[in-house]
Amino acid sequence: MILAACHWLAAQDYDLLIKNGHLIDAKNQLDQSMDVAILDGKIAAVAPDIPGEKAEKVIDATGLYVVPGLIDMHVHAFWGTRPDEYIGNSYTSLPPDGFTFRSGVTTVVDAGSAGWRNFKTFREQTIDHSKTRVLAFLNIVGWGMKGGAIEQNLGDMDPKLTAIVARQNRDVIVGIKLAHYSGPEWDPLDRTVEAGVLVDMPVMIDFGGHIPELSMETLLLEKLRPGDIYTHCYAHVRGRIPVVDENGQVRPCAREAQEKGIVFDLGHGGGSFVFEQAIPAVEQGFLPNSLSSDLHTGSMNAGMKDMVNIMSKMLNLGMSLQEVVARSTWTPAVYINREELGHLSVGAGADIALLNLKEGDFGFVDTRGWKIQGNKKLECELTLRDGTVVYDLNGLSMPQWEAEK
Ligand SMILES: [Zn+2]
Repeated sequence: MILAACHWLAAQDYDLLIKNGHLIDAKNQLDQSMDVAILDGKIAAVAPDIPGEKAEKVIDATGLYVVPGLIDMHVHAFWGTRPDEYIGNSYTSLPPDGFTFRSGVTTVVDAGSAGWRNFKTFREQTIDHSKTRVLAFLNIVGWGMKGGAIEQNLGDMDPKLTAIVARQNRDVIVGIKLAHYSGPEWDPLDRTVEAGVLVDMPVMIDFGGHIPELSMETLLLEKLRPGDIYTHCYAHVRGRIPVVDENGQVRPCAREAQEKGIVFDLGHGGGSFVFEQAIPAVEQGFLPNSLSSDLHTGSMNAGMKDMVNIMSKMLNLGMSLQEVVARSTWTPAVYINREELGHLSVGAGADIALLNLKEGDFGFVDTRGWKIQGNKKLECELTLRDGTVVYDLNGLSMPQWEAEK
């Protein structure tokens, strides 16, 4: 009787066990073979050898990398059906669940698609109905990214009202965003930082296309605070000074800014990642602090594709696997002040991705249409969100089919 009772207890220890995988967890400085056990949606144990009998279900991750669920710090998820609008509540944004789990992403941060006037709609329409964890930067423009004149309206950039809505939605709003402004003034930037100061949150800056160009040095070394985020760091667009200068050298002000704590976010997108910038920057050791997709309809089927494709691209440009995983999990969690995410410590929510590192001959494309060849490519094999399998490419977690009797 006693033995049977013990066995019953043992069998109930864990709901799920991921065995024989290679764990990469930057926060806990783990880069080794480790088993991960899950109970009630949380990480219950991480150890070199956890017996299979202790779990209801075992997933054999032999040959796979086990990493925290990816955090994509720059996406556009305020999808909707308003035909005359751009990213906010319109067709250019995408419903996150259709594009996240299949590339190992469990958390996305919407980068300013909504402002204080329409954040409620975004929240009710997308955030509250997504299995993906959706967080957000609130746009300094009250109407968010509706395109055209709306995003150029200084009269709709109100730090106080932005701060009120950010404070009211602190559970999901992680910062303030400025994007797409093309005038010659610093006012939009100053107001964005002012809102960030009011709510003690970082700002994310898409440094527009200012004609004439505004000083990158002033932005990075005078205007932004440590922890603030400069997105699209490998872009080269008209009206914005690029990180790598005309002689192929990383500008000293960019290096100095990174050293003082400005976050350089990749934000690939449909027009913001060019090899002309990325290749010399990586060669000279100027790496993005975080990898992110800038997911929207204009990027997903072009060079960007998804997070694992971006990670693969950076891997082939010379970043290590540990670096690309860290900068897609733990570092973005820190930048958005959500340190409960991005790692697999005991007690953390079981958001996990199983990645397959394939070898072969692969092509990677930038946003100008150039291609490079690479021999490594990551593929998402399986994704767990709070302990539940939400994506399983080859049925790793499923029983083998048998003819029914
Ligand atoms: Zn964006």
